[in-house]
Amino acid sequence: MKSPEVYKKLGIEPVINAQSWVTVLGGSLMKPEVLSAMNEASSVFVDMIKLNKSAGDFIAKICNAEKGLVTSGCAAAQVLMVAACMTGKDESKIDLLPSSSLVKNQVLLHSMQRNRYEKSFVMPGAKIVEYSSEEELNELISDKTACIAYVMAPWLSRGLGLLKTIKVAQKNNVPIILDAAAELPPRENLSKFIDMGVDLVAFSGGKGIQGPQSTGFLVGGKELVEAAFMNSLNLHSNLAAIGRPMKVSKENIIGLITALQLFIDEDESMEWGNWLDKSKKIKISLQDIQEIEVTIEDDKQIRQGPTVVIRFNENYKGPTLEKILFELENGTPNIFVSTQPNIKEISLVMVNLQDGEEIIVAERLKQILGNI
Ligand SMILES: *Cc1c(COP(=O)(O)O)cnc(C)c1O
Repeated sequence: MKSPEVYKKLGIEPVINAQSWVTVLGGSLMKPEVLSAMNEASSVFVDMIKLNKSAGDFIAKICNAEKGLVTSGCAAAQVLMVAACMTGKDESKIDLLPSSSLVKNQVLLHSMQRNRYEKSFVMPGAKIVEYSSEEELNELISDKTACIAYVMAPWLSRGLGLLKTIKVAQKNNVPIILDAAAELPPRENLSKFIDMGVDLVAFSGGKGIQGPQSTGFLVGGKELVEAAFMNSLNLHSNLAAIGRPMKVSKENIIGLITALQLFIDEDESMEWGNWLDKSKKIKISLQDIQEIEVTIEDDKQIRQGPTVVIRFNENYKGPTLEKILFELENGTPNIFVSTQPNIKEISLVMVNLQDGEEIIVAERLKQILGNI
């Protein structure tokens, strides 16, 4: 694998990413069209308020939402969604954040949906209040409720389920916000959650969409998105907005918009087919190794594209999982795969494997595992 000079200078070598759109490995790769659009965007000055609004409208149209806003990642969108639910468009409240002194300062989250991204929900000054049943959720909703938060991720419990949670929110007239960072593809999700009745939905721009890694966006109803926008920049009169450290550059806005257009234009079944072909090559390559089970799993609910899963039989006597991971991550090139705590299996996620890398991954695994 060729090491680009810019990284070599810093002593950094490229790695093979069979772990998915994970932040620690760089999210995803931008297409040449995205990079050239960003380059073009960088040649002039523009009115950032107008650019933000137009970009938001462009995204909203794609998502069948009233309004949209580009953010510096899905996590930033989560901060701004909660802020919007706390303040609405009231400037004195916006000015006050971060603060827990606003009346609406509670974010209701299912106890099984607690996760490592939830800090974003509390950054405006809100508190997370846990519920574990529909009854409890109904009881907890009060004047203090800023919103109900729902999080979608392949590794996370579904809590009450999105539909049921939306119903409770609507019955009680409180907003429901959704962290759907890595739920694209499928492309239908761009509008699905809005159509289901979610008030604000947040996605990452640097995962499946392949935009700049430090972008994301939120979409939803007009009032809440405008409130999120007011909380996002201190370009508005003398407002000191909580979103100031999460600004998005003109190059990143254009990069995201361009990537999103390419993303919706792409044929999802061909993309899926390409991932499946790579999976099959790896599976065939590993078929002679004793005492392991190799399957291709592509349940869209829990897998980010076709994934090769390696499980170990009871009488497997080869290297331990820890040893296998060590060998993969420290060989040349370093190879990163997906694992879950307390589950003895290896998942090879295809979405970020570049053409030909499936062969390198399979060969290396054969070397390590075949060494029994
Ligand atoms: C990746 C991810 C985030 C953070 O998204 P960024 O775009 O990296 O800020 C938040 N929530 C979930 C479930 C994620 O997978």
